[in-house]
Amino acid sequence: MGKIAQESLLSDDGVRSDGRRIDEARPFEVQVGVLTQANGSALVKQGKNLILAGVIGPYEAERHSQYLDRGVLRTRYHMQPYSTNERKSPTFTRREIELSRAVREALEPAVILTDLPRAQIDVFIEVLQADGGTRCASVNAASVALADAGVPMRDLVTAVAIGKVRDTLVVDINDLEDENGQADFPIAMMPSKGKITLLQMNGLLTQEEIQKSIEMARGVIRSLYEVQVEALKRRYAPLAASGNREGGSDA
Ligand code: ADP
Repeated sequence: MGKIAQESLLSDDGVRSDGRRIDEARPFEVQVGVLTQANGSALVKQGKNLILAGVIGPYEAERHSQYLDRGVLRTRYHMQPYSTNERKSPTFTRREIELSRAVREALEPAVILTDLPRAQIDVFIEVLQADGGTRCASVNAASVALADAGVPMRDLVTAVAIGKVRDTLVVDINDLEDENGQADFPIAMMPSKGKITLLQMNGLLTQEEIQKSIEMARGVIRSLYEVQVEALKRRYAPLAASGNREGGSDA
């Protein structure tokens, strides 16, 4: 499939090209509320991916796009021309249209749109740096940004791509593994509900490998979810504490 020998993607003793083990995710960092003018925002680092998500809303939608019984979620996934080694066109591409939709569909089950009749929520995702799995990192950033905007949610959404190199399943693939590996299988879940909200697959996997990938993803997603939750707590714990002091609750 790719241009690089499978052996260089995974050594005999199970070490990947970037030094990770097969079940080791990339370093994952989340910062909440990085933009002062957006209603919610998050900056996510997932390996070398750097993704900024900014939320506008909920706000009252234009009449023609309103639903009386629920709100509308919109997403825009955009890659900066400097985010990849091949310079990407600054204009919106077909791939970005498709990924905007994939990210929206991954998030939608978690957003309680019926609590937001007539409203609109817009999520703008900027890929500042790309290294494989940007749709997953975008979901991870966007769900935290939505929570930061105070949007009612059933759960966060957390995503990771499982891949296959040298006939072996590996978690959280990078660009080299995506391009040269045997499969790319992005998976998003609502972690505390255990529900899958996105499954997409390129390449060839057996039914058993699909099952095993989902289980591997579940484990990684749990640990990424903890990082997302911690980031939200870091952002809101000081506010809650100062609120308590002002309220004189410990007096
Ligand atoms: P994902 O980022 O979700 O894995 P793809 O599988 O389409 O989505 O892309 C894989 C990787 O290929 C991206 O993360 C990025 O590193 C790289 N890539 C995507 N689009 C381009 C592009 N137009 N030019 C160069 N590299 C790109």
